[in-house]
Amino acid sequence: MANLAIRTDKCKQCEFCVLSCPKGALSITCGSDRKNYRYIYVDSEKCIDCGICRTVCPDGVFEAGGS
Ligand code: SF4
Ligand code: SF4
Repeated sequence: MANLAIRTDKCKQCEFCVLSCPKGALSITCGSDRKNYRYIYVDSEKCIDCGICRTVCPDGVFEAGGS
């Protein structure tokens, strides 16, 4: 289960994390709240909280301790 806080405003959509996640839990998606805005999304049902995305992200988008 995901325990990540995600700073979507910092994401530049490089997809390093998407390619690195061993569970396929990450994807780039379109927001319904912000028109034409794409951001990183984590499927909390797939996430095993391994921390790889926190390691590979060059922009500090992922922080431990989210809901
Ligand atoms: S913590 Fe691990 S399983 Fe969860 S989204 Fe990040 S890379 Fe994927
Ligand atoms: S690695 Fe970081 S900046 Fe790149 S897509 Fe993932 S969250 Fe966004």
